[in-house]
Amino acid sequence: MAQSLCFYSNTRLHICIKASSGKEQQLGCFTLTKPIHLKVSSGCRARARASASHGAGSSAIQIPHQWYNLIADLPVKPPPPLHPKTFEPVKPEDLSPLFPDELIKQEASNDQFIDIPEEVLDVYRLWRPTPLIRAKRLEKLLNTPARIYYKYEGVSPAGSHKPNTAVPQVWYNAQEGVKNIVTETGAGQWGSSLAFACSLFGLNCEVWQVRASFDQKPYRKLMMQTWGAKVHPSPSTVTEFGRRILQMDPASPGSLGIAISEAVEVAAMNADTKYCLGSVLNHVLLHQTVIGEECIKQMEAIGETPDVIIGCTGGGSNFAGLSFPFIREKLKGKINPLIRAVEPAACPSLTKGIYAYDYGDTAGMTPLMKMHTLGHDFIPDPIHAGGLRYHGMAPLISHVYELGFMEALSIPQTECFQGAIQFARTEGLIPAPEPTHAIAATIREALHCRETGESKVILMAMCGHGHFDLPAYEKYLQGSMVDLAFAEEKIQASLANIPQIVR
Ligand SMILES: *Cc1c(COP(=O)(O)O)cnc(C)c1O
Repeated sequence: MAQSLCFYSNTRLHICIKASSGKEQQLGCFTLTKPIHLKVSSGCRARARASASHGAGSSAIQIPHQWYNLIADLPVKPPPPLHPKTFEPVKPEDLSPLFPDELIKQEASNDQFIDIPEEVLDVYRLWRPTPLIRAKRLEKLLNTPARIYYKYEGVSPAGSHKPNTAVPQVWYNAQEGVKNIVTETGAGQWGSSLAFACSLFGLNCEVWQVRASFDQKPYRKLMMQTWGAKVHPSPSTVTEFGRRILQMDPASPGSLGIAISEAVEVAAMNADTKYCLGSVLNHVLLHQTVIGEECIKQMEAIGETPDVIIGCTGGGSNFAGLSFPFIREKLKGKINPLIRAVEPAACPSLTKGIYAYDYGDTAGMTPLMKMHTLGHDFIPDPIHAGGLRYHGMAPLISHVYELGFMEALSIPQTECFQGAIQFARTEGLIPAPEPTHAIAATIREALHCRETGESKVILMAMCGHGHFDLPAYEKYLQGSMVDLAFAEEKIQASLANIPQIVR
């Protein structure tokens, strides 16, 4: 015999059902606007007279005051980064030409939680908490019993999740007296986020933008310039490494790996200049956990528990940001969602790369990181999801993948844009090309639920809008978008250049 239970705490009414096994399942949870009188009978006929809101509850919740560090809870710690010349584990002082002390500390931290500085919270408040939205109209279009939710990060000034880390990175640099920040950008999302953050705290910002997107995305460049940044196409003639690449291939479309080498070269040679990275590193993933922490509270507030969590992965930061706090709850045994990363078929580091020590950049100037990699000199085809064109995956995500806490798949871009069009025409938002991968995987899952009749709860990371990516939509709508064949030989060639390190 199952037994129903009602209880309320502060202003929340919880309705639960208790099976004879003793297992309790929450059926609903409502936010109350007034105190209520509860009359509980065996059938759970609580008459809550107060108006109960059953929205996604973003206004009801607070911005988290701490970031979450998954490393603290992992049964096996991730392998350390290695010095690119000595192959010994990097020491904090090896990193100090590039990063401020506080970020170096966070990079190697074993603390479970790290306080978000008040000044950073104050900037987060410009757009956080971000909405958690149920995609009811998409569900209806797909005729699926699944319930689809998306956590939308496109409400930030730059239009993606990237300011979640750009703001603290620039703030810590400013605290330590740094005057100039250099970085690379692929699609332009990271460069614009960093330019925005630098403008808030009064630092100079210089960006190397991958040539292909510098040409394709003039508006991202203009955003960076509007926020006061200086933008170079990469490869550029400004750096030694850029000149070397241009000598070999004057028409080089560039890559994130090349642009990173250029920015790192400039930071390494100038004492008052530091480098910021928009993904991949532990401290970046850490800052992004503000997404998942918020989302846990939002899902609780509406009495939902995700069965599947889906996000796109370039370097892995938006995916980690949403999923890591849920992995913590999974490790505690509280919930058991499947965690699923989606990458482009043209740059499949998790599904087709090898797990090995490799450089983060093309020139081999960064520390060696153990990660899923296609090889540091792999230049992916210029697919539209510029933010997903990176040869490696975050070492921490690679490690979590090896531990078996998550799964991965790759999807070609035409299927992604087909999903994006369905999403835009039902939910209204026009997604950035990157999260179209998460949308396509979500649609696959929802259609699978239609087959099996399961009403799974799918939670998707909608990490940015596509207002500056309309040329990609134009290609798709004209029917001229193609799926670039996965270049097996190209990958084999670049994998052959990975340093041979046995540890
Ligand atoms: C940069 C970017 C990505 C890829 O980076 P991750 O670190 O994998 O999140 C994905 N989506 C958007 C909108 C981006 O700007």
